[in-house]
Amino acid sequence: MGRYTEAVCRLCRREGMKLYLKGEKCFTEKCPVHKRPFPPGMHGQGVRHKTSEFGLRLREKQKLRRIYGVLERQFKRYFEIASKAKGVTGTRLLQILESRLDNVVYRLGLAASRKEARMLVTHGHIAVNGRRVNIPSYLVSPGDVITLTARGRENARVQSLLAEAGARGRPGWLEFNPETLEARVLGLPSREEIDVPVNEQLVVEYYSR
Ligand code: SF4
Repeated sequence: MGRYTEAVCRLCRREGMKLYLKGEKCFTEKCPVHKRPFPPGMHGQGVRHKTSEFGLRLREKQKLRRIYGVLERQFKRYFEIASKAKGVTGTRLLQILESRLDNVVYRLGLAASRKEARMLVTHGHIAVNGRRVNIPSYLVSPGDVITLTARGRENARVQSLLAEAGARGRPGWLEFNPETLEARVLGLPSREEIDVPVNEQLVVEYYSR
């Protein structure tokens, strides 16, 4: 556990920015991006060389992949789907990533990070359209209804997070009923509704080279 925790923060330090992978800790002064604002490793504080065009695109792709916690093979598959779909490829890619069930659970405030959301899903606490779904990469569609299963509703951690989530707010493309704890996907998010600090065009250029 300790090793993995450190590795997650190393990803943020490598990208030189907060990727918010750890939930509450990310909002405290304990965040290593504040304490050690240089890349990890023995050369982290060495002389920085100018990043090449390729390097810039690679970093942007890695950043986006790491924010959503997706492995390279699956990320590339998402890009291929996005590039065949109608519309702007970069925006479509972001919409696919946003549609992942673990991301939706995170956006609804049922978990403090996408990693925690992934655990809620794999532990069987989430249902889509009345059926339990334990696959974090499941892609939701407009009209889908997301609920907590009976075990999910009893989860003390979820209950305390829900109390805070209302104050933080939820994206406009997700409707949430705090009485029934039921959420509905109203549509796909627009680019403006996706608050990831990434230049997705560079990611498209990375795969189009
Ligand atoms: Fe770690 Fe969160 Fe800070 Fe990233 S933002 S370095 S995950 S504490």
